[in-house]
Amino acid sequence: MKKTSIKNERSCTAFHEAGHFVIRVRLVPEKIREKISIKRRYGTLGRSIEETFYWDSEELEDYKKEILILFSGYAAHVEFNKKDQKRAWVGAEDDNQKAENLLEEMGLKGKKRIAFSNDLREVAKKIVRQNWKAIEEVAKELLIVEEMSGDEGELIISHIDGDPSAARALFEYRRFKKTLRK
Ligand SMILES: [Zn+2]
Repeated sequence: MKKTSIKNERSCTAFHEAGHFVIRVRLVPEKIREKISIKRRYGTLGRSIEETFYWDSEELEDYKKEILILFSGYAAHVEFNKKDQKRAWVGAEDDNQKAENLLEEMGLKGKKRIAFSNDLREVAKKIVRQNWKAIEEVAKELLIVEEMSGDEGELIISHIDGDPSAARALFEYRRFKKTLRK
């Protein structure tokens, strides 16, 4: 494999994971986020998803949100690299399977299920675009550090949102992290 394609694959993974993360923060701000990482092999990512996959409510809105978060990985990958749809699809295999399981649980079948799923894919594309700046910043940071806590990811998002205290908090957080590494 050429060096450039490895580099590109890594970037795509970062955008995929950042997509999941940012949209999760937006849709379920009350939930605690696990760390976000690009350390694992592409296609077996989505660890933060796995760990927070359970919910207590069976309401439709919760299902929708969970499926939107699953679809946001693919949407962010494709938004970052529009020519890479095929690989993005392969990378999202796990997410798609989980989404199918949820649609099954919802009791959706046939054409109705396909239509519902396609609608949510369109919504995912839209919210990924609306949150692009934040996704980009989280992905960029992931490419440097490979792994970060949910707290750090949320600080990056707040910073992008214009929260004046977030920049300072982020600076302190990173300085603290550096002292741990020494
Ligand atoms: Zn994923």
